[in-house]
Amino acid sequence: MRRTEITLDLGALRHNLLRLRAAAPASRVMAAIKANGYGHGMERVARTLAEVDALGVACLEEAVRLREAGITTPITLLEGFFHADELPVICQHALDVVIHHAQQIAILEQRPPSPPLRVWLKVDSGMHRLGVPADEARAQWQRLAAISGVVVNGVMTHLANADDLKDASTVRQLNLFHASCEGLPGERTIANSAGLLGWPQSHAEWNRPGIALYGVSPFVGGRAAEHGLRPVMTLRSELIAVNRLRQGDAIGYGGSWRCPEAMAVGVVAVGYGDGYPRHAVAGTPVLLNGRRVPLVGRVSMDMLTVDLRGQPEASIGDGVVLWGEGLPVEEIAEHATTIPYELLCGVTGRVRVIERG
Ligand SMILES: *Cc1c(COP(=O)(O)O)cnc(C)c1O
Repeated sequence: MRRTEITLDLGALRHNLLRLRAAAPASRVMAAIKANGYGHGMERVARTLAEVDALGVACLEEAVRLREAGITTPITLLEGFFHADELPVICQHALDVVIHHAQQIAILEQRPPSPPLRVWLKVDSGMHRLGVPADEARAQWQRLAAISGVVVNGVMTHLANADDLKDASTVRQLNLFHASCEGLPGERTIANSAGLLGWPQSHAEWNRPGIALYGVSPFVGGRAAEHGLRPVMTLRSELIAVNRLRQGDAIGYGGSWRCPEAMAVGVVAVGYGDGYPRHAVAGTPVLLNGRRVPLVGRVSMDMLTVDLRGQPEASIGDGVVLWGEGLPVEEIAEHATTIPYELLCGVTGRVRVIERG
């Protein structure tokens, strides 16, 4: 059997939720579990975080999957509905929706929802992705509030640069948001993980952490341990070959890496077909028998190769950690010019999943 697997530490997931609650004790938590719970299994995450105040997903299909799995936690559709025909199903499953565009409001005006629909009005405070313009927030709020069958929970926005603690645009976003909805009734929600952990002034009635729940730092150059977070996902495999090569031997596709001396090179049974990033450069750390060895050569679909000069005694069957416990996924992302989010979401279906605690 190919021993390429992720272990999911559900105790760490619960620990991280407690940690985030402690960092913002006055706020409720809407856990972002879209994209299959950032690759951890959406239903599994929802069940493990049964104590959370609400769940945030990207689309109706995800929400219905959760309801069909018996999850009764309040669910918010973070992008609302995409088409009017979703509304009956949304009401049937008692889902909350984010309203981010005048077009959605026009649809609700034409078809007042029944049973009542709870909505958040999303304001664009500077990210320029989703949200009504800040100077229209009040007028759009009034339109929404006037529709029978619409209950406005409150107002939300999303931060574009909270992952960089030196970026002044976060404060500008907060100021614009508060000014745009000053005096409007209802609750507020602003903070993602980076807001929650790095910008206490962004805390509101609700915070919306995602990546931090999975035990990953949301900050540029950050590490989860700095925030007392524990990695939930560990990607593991094993050595399936140890090759004694000569000086000058080229490794793998393209032969981009050559042995600078006679040396052992190990082959690990994991590759981009499992979600390990092909763009990981030579020197990316791999944990072999609990100690680091550098990746060499190109990552292939099912395998990658490592420099065994630091562990010449390594043998076939030795255990390898690609990221997770003992090797922060943040570090792997940096070596692959991507972000941990993409690595976690990208683990493919053939990787075996093992739950722990
Ligand atoms: C995904 C998402 C979040 C969570 O972001 P993290 O950076 O993972 O904490 C929060 N709010 C919205 C609207 C989202 O789509």
